[in-house]
Amino acid sequence: MIKEYELNVLPEELVDTETLIKAIARKIGVRTERIADFELLKKSIDARKALITYRIKVQLRVLELERPTLEKIGEEKEIEVEIEPQIETIEVDKYQDVRNAKPVIVIGAGPAGLFASLKLIQKGFRPIIIERGKPVSERKVDLAQIIRQKEINTESNWCFGEGGAGTFSDGKLYTRSNKRGNINEVLDLFVQHGADKEIMIDAHPHIGTDRLSTITKSIRQTIETYGGEYHFNTKVIDLIVKDNKIKGVITQKGDKIESEIVVLATGHSARDIYYLFHEKNWALEAKLFAMGVRIEHPQELINQIQYHTPKYSKLLPPATYNVTHSTKDKDRGVFSFCMCPGGMIIPASTGKEELVVNGMSNSLRNSPFANSGIVVNVKESDAKKFSEFGQLAMLKLQEETEKNMFIAADKTMVAPAQRLTDFIKDRKSSALAPSSYIPGLLPSNMSNILPEFISTNLRDAFLHFGKTMKGFITSEANIIGLESRTSSPVRIPRDKDSLQHIQISGLYPCGEGSGYSGGITSSAIDGINIAEKIAETYK
Ligand SMILES: Cc1cc2nc3c(=O)[nH]c(=O)nc-3n(C[C@H](O)[C@H](O)[C@H](O)COP(=O)(O)OP(=O)(O)OC[C@H]3O[C@@H](n4cnc5c(N)ncnc54)[C@H](O)[C@@H]3O)c2cc1C
Repeated sequence: MIKEYELNVLPEELVDTETLIKAIARKIGVRTERIADFELLKKSIDARKALITYRIKVQLRVLELERPTLEKIGEEKEIEVEIEPQIETIEVDKYQDVRNAKPVIVIGAGPAGLFASLKLIQKGFRPIIIERGKPVSERKVDLAQIIRQKEINTESNWCFGEGGAGTFSDGKLYTRSNKRGNINEVLDLFVQHGADKEIMIDAHPHIGTDRLSTITKSIRQTIETYGGEYHFNTKVIDLIVKDNKIKGVITQKGDKIESEIVVLATGHSARDIYYLFHEKNWALEAKLFAMGVRIEHPQELINQIQYHTPKYSKLLPPATYNVTHSTKDKDRGVFSFCMCPGGMIIPASTGKEELVVNGMSNSLRNSPFANSGIVVNVKESDAKKFSEFGQLAMLKLQEETEKNMFIAADKTMVAPAQRLTDFIKDRKSSALAPSSYIPGLLPSNMSNILPEFISTNLRDAFLHFGKTMKGFITSEANIIGLESRTSSPVRIPRDKDSLQHIQISGLYPCGEGSGYSGGITSSAIDGINIAEKIAETYK
């Protein structure tokens, strides 16, 4: 008989399959030999009690199942009995040779553009991917150069280039947007292209920068093998629109590339695209976003807080956290964003005179630091002084704050920073705590650089986080600025049924830059949804 169980096991019971099966058998009250088949379906850390365990969901085939001694199971739950194995099998469309198929221009090779392209090939369309940045290997060289020279390359950086902002990221694949599409299809495509199968069972799947760059290359191999095209170092500077219909794009090289279907997946940092829409009077809308700082603690300290003891099992992964607070300032949300355990802080600017930071990690998450964005919701009323820019007012506020951060340090990628305890007391730090940020930090008073509503709300929220996570407020933590690219401050509106731009038919705004996703997985899902809609409309 096949059954599913949800139960808790100790980290040391999860070290290998044999040990795990023994532990499960003991917990459900059967002899180990009776467990004929075993599948781990889901796994997550359960840190609610003093003893940290893994909550797992397993599917077992138990020969002549004895009646489980439920009294032994305690909190464990026996759930739905299934006669047939019910591991979800994903119906993936097969790839087709699309060399002679209808072309679709895809602007941007981030998760949205790449997953749209994979799906377009499966549906019999030929994606022509136009990407302003470089292939992933060349991009790596430019990133090293940014760190060394402390100067940004505006076309090849942490946001622009093959794989988009997703490549040299933390690679967390967790998304809350499960209503919007099939997360398992995205995870399965990642596994097909080289990700560890573990991502299919982990409740908070993570890939890591080192693996993501190989996966991105493998996706390119699939796309090119079946007849898709890549144009690197090619920036789209204009759209060809006639009678409110898209006809193609114009690149910075002066080339016209024609197609009656264009997917716009340029990400949240392609400000030139927002300015293009603004100048041409094509519809775009202001969108709420959040800004703040990145905070960095020693990972060991976060482990001890989250695992409730300095003696936590070393088999546990570097601990993560997720904090939120609604401040007194009229429901102003302050929250942690993109927490990177065992990660490092990197410069994520895309323009010459701006300073933006973000976090990334390798698959092993083995750096001694834990970093996270701590950001404050920005409302339209915060950007009143830019109201002459209409729908771009919040984008202008974002630009101004990034520029102030750049000027406040030494007009390079060196970042302003302050010890958390000094920020709370509103005094400049004389020296900073050790940090993973390689370009360097400059002791500063963040309250003098950040907009007032951000520093006030951050301070309020930090005090709250210090109560919910004892030890969070410490002089061992630095705050570093600016964390501003949490999502796009602009939306490029699309019709909810056709998914085409509300004025320009054939143009499909897609992914994070268009305001429809916020992360790797949700952007990939949006790309797949757009490709499916194109197939439905043009076949
Ligand atoms: C350092 C860092 C860490 C992150 N960590 C995580 C994480 O752990 N988990 C997570 O879910 N999300 C993470 N994110 C966010 C995630 O990467 C983005 O949400 C996701 O990449 C958005 O996908 P996208 O395809 O919509 O846009 P993008 O990934 O931004 O891709 C857009 C692409 O379009 C190209 N482009 C822009 N303008 C033009 C133009 N005019 N012509 C041609 N090409 C153009 C860009 O070069 C880019 O390659 C991280 C981001 C960063 C920067």
